[in-house]
Amino acid sequence: MIRSATSPLFNALKRNYSNVAPTTKLFINGQFVDSKATQWVDLHDPATNNLVTKVPQSTQAEMDAAVESCKSAYELWKNTSVLTRQQIMLKLQAALRRDIKKIAANITLEQGKTLPDAEGDVMRGIQVVEHACAAGTLLQGESLQGITRDMDITSYRVPLGVTAGICPFNFPAMVPLWMIPLALIAGNTMLVKPSERDPGATMLIMELLNEAGCPPGVVNVIHGTHDAVNFICDHPDIKAISFVGGDRAGKHIYQRGAASGKRIQSNMGAKNHAIVLPDADKNAALDSLVGAAFGAAGQRCMALSVAILVGDAQNWIPDLIEKAKKLKVSAGHEPGTDVGPVISPQAKERIFKLIESGIKQGAKCPLDGRSVKVEKYPNGNFVGPTLLTDVKTSYDCYKEEIFGPVLSVISADTLEEAISIINSNPYGNGTAIFTTSGNYARQFVHEVDAGQIGVNVPIPVPLPMFSFTGSRGSFHGDLHFYGKQGLYFYTETKTITSLWRKGAVPANSVPSVSMPVHN
Ligand code: NAD
Repeated sequence: MIRSATSPLFNALKRNYSNVAPTTKLFINGQFVDSKATQWVDLHDPATNNLVTKVPQSTQAEMDAAVESCKSAYELWKNTSVLTRQQIMLKLQAALRRDIKKIAANITLEQGKTLPDAEGDVMRGIQVVEHACAAGTLLQGESLQGITRDMDITSYRVPLGVTAGICPFNFPAMVPLWMIPLALIAGNTMLVKPSERDPGATMLIMELLNEAGCPPGVVNVIHGTHDAVNFICDHPDIKAISFVGGDRAGKHIYQRGAASGKRIQSNMGAKNHAIVLPDADKNAALDSLVGAAFGAAGQRCMALSVAILVGDAQNWIPDLIEKAKKLKVSAGHEPGTDVGPVISPQAKERIFKLIESGIKQGAKCPLDGRSVKVEKYPNGNFVGPTLLTDVKTSYDCYKEEIFGPVLSVISADTLEEAISIINSNPYGNGTAIFTTSGNYARQFVHEVDAGQIGVNVPIPVPLPMFSFTGSRGSFHGDLHFYGKQGLYFYTETKTITSLWRKGAVPANSVPSVSMPVHN
């Protein structure tokens, strides 16, 4: 039985979106349908732990029907003109902008992040929709006239077929929108499996896709966990998988999907370091550290989780603590909240254990968020901003991705030493430097081995005209999400060599049996 949720946000959503609660539906062939699942995942509001909705573990028949729907829609969709697809994206963009607050409210309810942060989550996705609208240029192939006499070569970018997207919990709108717009604009259909922990935003996006006139079957949504993921990895009709999530699932999907010949892009975990040099603008650097370490309760793959304070910047720890202490911890929909709850009681427990292990291994904890109490929400999964100092790279709290509001502080004597710490870490998602020296910034940019670098920018997530270029342990694959690479991922190249001879071939011509070289 579903207990009634008490949050006014929940009631507002229930009124507006029948497809979100009390059980999350599937989206098959353009229809929201009740699942016949026998197993369900309970989804709780992280601020209260009240039950919000039940998410089905889709049955085999439902998953088969979803792929079949993608497959039959593909024939129509790939032959739909680029301009028509673009019109649908433009309508989707307008609808998303109109409904941004409603989607954000759903994210806050299911995921816990603050309302302004949830709006940022949707807006980052909208920007990818806007990028997809440039398909007329982005999808162009290449051509060369007269490569040899009367011969031309043209290449087209053609869709792959049925593609699939598997999403994490931490960006329930942005990540599906990293995938859906670019897969669709290129002429593919897509099967989406949102995170079982917060699928509501995806379901709202499906309502808007219907409203925008996207034909039934172009996108289907199934729910579930491991079985649904393995179904996607193994299905012979699925040609490509976009995955965003943790290392374990990402490596598994990369291997299992590749075994059945699929193209895969797998964005995984991270440990993002910031170097603070003593010549940095102190307040700007400390504000950036606090925002990027504790915002979204540290549950961003681009969160700054390690600060390397170089030389005299080590004296700034008391000021860092003062700034972090001012953050308000509460439910994400409460005005003025800076740090919402983490996703689950299990996540909270894991964060507590990693803090504890850091202290046991020798770190100091001058700001301990484990004692935080939010009186109005006694059952929420709250962890306050936490600072671990004197951290060594051998500690578990350094080696593990904590994915909570915990900033580990390491000291270094020189920029070179700081860069070498970053380059020795297996992850390569993002990093940042805070300095007022162009020469140190340039040295850092060229010597550091990470895929996304901020110079006085704490969260250097590229805008969608570029690509999300995490590297090393943070990414498996070749072509990255969004930007030009995103479209390359969802297309393959068809190259046509044409000979339209001017004049007839003479009767005494001799056939050539050697490899044609056309020169
Ligand atoms: P997760 O790996 O637990 O889940 C991601 C998806 O994989 C979900 O849909 C889930 O159902 C499925 N899944 C989980 N475990 C699985 C398994 N063992 N086998 C098959 N499928 C499985 O990740 P999460 O906790 O939802 O998200 C947080 C993680 O995602 C963090 O590690 C974060 O760094 C990472 N992340 C990375 C990026 C990036 O772009 N690099 C962006 C966002 C999040």
